[in-house]
Amino acid sequence: MKKKIAILGSTGSIGTQALEVIEANSDVFSVSVLTAGDNADLLIRQAAKFRPAEVVICNEQHFEKVKSALSPFNIKVYQGAAALVSVVESDEVDVVLTAMVGYAGLLPTIHAIKAGKDIALANKETLVVAGELITALAKEHQVSIYPVDSEHSAIFQCLAGEANNAIEKIVLTASGGPFRGKDRAFLSAVTKQQALKHPNWTMGAKITIDSATLMNKGLEVIEAKWLFDLNASQIDVIVHPQSIIHSLVQFEDGSMKAQMGLPDMKLPIQYALNYPNRLKSDFPRFNFVDYPSLTFEKPDLETFRNLAIAYDALEKGGNAACIVNAANEIAVDAFLHDKIGFLDISDVIVESLAKIAFVGNPSFADYVATNEATRRFASEMIQVKV
Ligand code: NDP
Repeated sequence: MKKKIAILGSTGSIGTQALEVIEANSDVFSVSVLTAGDNADLLIRQAAKFRPAEVVICNEQHFEKVKSALSPFNIKVYQGAAALVSVVESDEVDVVLTAMVGYAGLLPTIHAIKAGKDIALANKETLVVAGELITALAKEHQVSIYPVDSEHSAIFQCLAGEANNAIEKIVLTASGGPFRGKDRAFLSAVTKQQALKHPNWTMGAKITIDSATLMNKGLEVIEAKWLFDLNASQIDVIVHPQSIIHSLVQFEDGSMKAQMGLPDMKLPIQYALNYPNRLKSDFPRFNFVDYPSLTFEKPDLETFRNLAIAYDALEKGGNAACIVNAANEIAVDAFLHDKIGFLDISDVIVESLAKIAFVGNPSFADYVATNEATRRFASEMIQVKV
């Protein structure tokens, strides 16, 4: 029996790489659902090739185009974000790969978990916003959440066979992004073109900017808390510019295990989709002689404030990380549209945290309200700056 995969966000960086993994292992996986935001043309090509049972185009303006192009095939076509929550519940789905970007991934993930589907989680924002709720739901519905993020996949791989051994701490590695070593004077003038040039990874625009500000690492710290049931003091970050060691676990006896390899998201995607079994691959292999020096340095939390902000939100708990996420999404979008500068991103987040009401023990409705209120406040703040 092939594993039936639903990909939320199949037209993005993770989504397209997941389809490469599935194509290379077509005896192991089949595609049952594909979804896109705006990119109707790519969705049509993907659906014609992989023949899922259902597709969703979220931008309703493209619905007729997608429907008509796929009419020769036996594929159901739906439109709008509301359709995402029903397609993940289909009997034709075994694993849902959440490869959408941002808060929009939260609700479909909740529905997938309630329908008993295992989750291959790329959409870290889901755990950042509502990690407590998501992990509790997964437990209640006996659903597994397999990390796709390379750092969390590394930790997950290091934990294989270690169920009885407590984690002392984990170390998440960070490339440092394109502005490693730069000071605030330099950062005040950087452009989006510079920020979009990640040294080691090719990814979607939002996560690439998050990597440049170190917010991506902050979001990953929060994601790690929920995936591995840790507290903030057990999660360290170290800058490792070569991105060869993907992360490490330290156990109570002091022993450290690391997972390493050339940077390639197809490996963690494949591991998550086919856990616990590894699949043979022809991905390029790491060679020590090509990397005579693997280096490590402390992250600069004063210049790159977002990492410190994320740690603070994690310590504070409640809806603080939800506020950070929403403000960051709005600020990054504004930076990508040349409305604010690179350093303004942190200011928007800090002011949102000061302004939006703290809720200590949030319900789902509280997360929704926090997200909306923060987006409104951050957008207004940016409007004033423009
Ligand atoms: P991309 O921007 O490349 O792709 C995002 C996908 O989500 C696209 O298919 C896009 O559709 C869809 N999408 C965007 N907004 C919406 C929306 N509001 N409703 C429905 N669909 C939407 O992002 P990435 O693939 O880089 O990242 C996806 C997730 O994976 C993020 O959470 C990121 O943090 C995480 N991740 C990514 C890594 C990477 O290497 N790229 C590594 C680790 C984690 P369309 O393009 O058709 O508009």
